[in-house]
Amino acid sequence: MHEFSAATQMVELVLAEAQRRNAKKVLEVKVVVGKLSFLNPEQLRFAYEILSEGTMLESSKLRIEEQDGAIECLKCGYRGGLPTEDNPYYHLGIPFLRCPKCKGEARIIKGRDFTVKSIRIEV
Ligand SMILES: [Zn+2]
Repeated sequence: MHEFSAATQMVELVLAEAQRRNAKKVLEVKVVVGKLSFLNPEQLRFAYEILSEGTMLESSKLRIEEQDGAIECLKCGYRGGLPTEDNPYYHLGIPFLRCPKCKGEARIIKGRDFTVKSIRIEV
């Protein structure tokens, strides 16, 4: 599961950072999820809750900020958003992209990231 491995990496990163700051507990974690990262926020949250059990992250708050995506067409040069809601591939979680104008092959220029923005800890 895509979300599970992404959440595992995130939890490891946050734990390492919390230890570096001698935290007793992590209170809140803010992450940015690009809409073209093909990560489902609900599944991320679910994975996070499982993974944080028994760690410093237990019962911490996970705040998910979604970032809009943008693509660039390799054929016609179109740059802009992708109507992901209408894209059936989005629901299958396969990053398969087509230009909305000419249906040419497109690449992601924004919104692919999944990053930890900040954490709040108790020391
Ligand atoms: Zn195009």
